[in-house]
Order: sequence, then structure tokens, then C-alpha cells
Amino acid sequence: MCPKRFKVPSSIAQHIESGVCHKSSRAQVTAAAHALKFVPTISISRRIEGRTPRVVTYYATERAFNGTAYECYLCHRTFRTLRALNTHVSSPVHNANEFRCPKCKRKFKLISGFMQHIEREACGIARFQAVGDLTKGLIDLFKKRLTLS
Ligand SMILES: [Zn+2]
Ligand SMILES: [Zn+2]
Ligand SMILES: [Zn+2]
Repeated sequence: MCPKRFKVPSSIAQHIESGVCHKSSRAQVTAAAHALKFVPTISISRRIEGRTPRVVTYYATERAFNGTAYECYLCHRTFRTLRALNTHVSSPVHNANEFRCPKCKRKFKLISGFMQHIEREACGIARFQAVGDLTKGLIDLFKKRLTLS
């Protein structure tokens, strides 16, 4: 069992997505959240049932140096060190949006982002009955992951 304690569901999600003490990657957490199939749906991608999404890992090498700085080949932002560039490319910044708030249609790359959106009560989605089930479903999922690892 994970020794950490969490105040809000989104921090559990972020902790598991980080992969620090549980061998779950962001992609696995995302796939598991899609698999829960909530109504109204929060999934954007139309995935083939039962398939785990292809995990794309970006990794920059010395070749990213453009003469003055290390350049991200996806968004052309530049960084002073290769390490900084790699932190950038391995962050969710270039991942596609995976989830959408059924109420305000805001999009999120990670389920933790959507959970934070619910917690902030930004658009009133938190008042919907279905959201209680959603949060409960996600917490069950995360608890399972916390105990298994
Ligand atoms: Zn942990
Ligand atoms: Zn970039
Ligand atoms: Zn919303």
C-alpha cells in the first residue's frame, strides 16, 4: 500500500500518473480511465475496445542542438540544455487531449486535470449526480493501483 496520504482525488491521480512509486505510466492511467466508460462520456478518442493506446515516448538527443540551443522538434521551443529539453518532451505537453468536460467542453490531457476541474467547481459539473459516480469509479481504480504495486 502506498504510504502517501492524499487530500483530494486529483492528487491521487497525479501521484499515480507520475509513475514515481507505482509502475503505472500516464498512458496506462489514461487507458484505465477511458475503460471505465462513464455516462455522459468524458473520453475524446475513439479507441478500439480493450486495446491499450500506443505509448509514445519522445526522447531528444544531441542532434536536437540547432547551433545555439536545443530545439523541440514538435513545437520548436528552445532550451539551454538537453536535459531541459528532455524534461519538456517527456511532460504531457505534446500529448493529445484525452478527456472532455461534458458540461463546459473544456479538454484535458490527463484524467487528473479533469478531476482538478471537478474539484475547482469551475463550471458546475460537480453538481451533477453522474459526477459523483465518476469520482467514485476513479478513486476505486486508483486505490486498486495503489494496493497492487
Ligand atoms: Zn505511491
Ligand atoms: Zn515541444
Ligand atoms: Zn467543465
